[in-house]
Amino acid sequence: AKAQQETQSLKASLSNVSHVILVLSGKGGVGKSTLAAQLSHTLASQGFAVGLLDVDLCGPSAPRMVLGDAYATSQVHRSGSGAWTPVYASPNLAVMSISFLLEQNNAAVIWRGPRKNALIQQFLTEVDWTGDTDGLDYLIVDTPPGTSDEHISTVQYLQKAGAVSGAVVVTTPEEVSLADVRKELNFCEKTKVPVLGVVENMGSLQTTISKLTFRDPKSGDDKTEDVLKQLQEKCPELLDMVASADLFRVVDNNPQSTKKGAEQMAEQYNVPFWGSLPLDTDLLKCCEQGKPVVEECPNSIASKTLTGFVQRLTK
Ligand code: ADP
Repeated sequence: AKAQQETQSLKASLSNVSHVILVLSGKGGVGKSTLAAQLSHTLASQGFAVGLLDVDLCGPSAPRMVLGDAYATSQVHRSGSGAWTPVYASPNLAVMSISFLLEQNNAAVIWRGPRKNALIQQFLTEVDWTGDTDGLDYLIVDTPPGTSDEHISTVQYLQKAGAVSGAVVVTTPEEVSLADVRKELNFCEKTKVPVLGVVENMGSLQTTISKLTFRDPKSGDDKTEDVLKQLQEKCPELLDMVASADLFRVVDNNPQSTKKGAEQMAEQYNVPFWGSLPLDTDLLKCCEQGKPVVEECPNSIASKTLTGFVQRLTK
């Protein structure tokens, strides 16, 4: 009877959420929260009602990436009915995270599995996502790296409610990350979570020349000011040129193939490859400030790439 009740409350609470998308990665630091945050922002700026649920209980970073500094003072409240009201980054982007429940922002969460499961269950049954909207078009779930307690319980609860739409898997191009991502893909296969796409992150650097640092190769002295001044005088148009570098050219996953590691891996697992999100200084800045790169820097490569990803998600 308890299990039935659990299933019912999961179903009830997720009944007005159209799509639930998990964002997964094998390793930490490859850009999973960045992608979760910017996908949420991009969907929201296209008018979709979006929820961002952070189940990275020990390292919650999504709130900061959508709220900026305001995340530190944001709190969630229990409404009259007992449901949590999430924090709104914009009228149609609601965020829920353990970081809103902690007394201090730097408090460490040292919990074993059962306590984590209980909180995740609460997140999936006790958050009122409806707000001013009529429910959510997309619930984006940011997860911890790997395949741990948080993943297993999130997937189990979502599947009980029949709510999980699929996963987006993020990796950097090198084998160290790819090896762990294969485990992630196997996890999806085992748990029957459809992989909607593989995203390669930070394979190349994209910036403008004016943001680069120039050094004298012999002395190592910083010559940036000189170089930029000369460019400004002689050919100012170069300052705004996009500079890019293939950061992983040294890594040859398969010298026979023109495709890079992440794309090859997607092919092997027969899942869609969405493309490559560059290490982009505009994106970094927006993430630090909690802003949507598609609105702040619409002409950046990151913005165009994210718009492409969202097209794939919403088609
Ligand atoms: P993860 O969630 O996988 O641990 P994060 O999304 O927190 O990784 O990314 C780690 C750091 O790298 C963040 O501070 C983020 O701003 C930066 N970062 C990630 N991807 C990019 C990118 N494509 N361009 C610029 N900075 C990025």
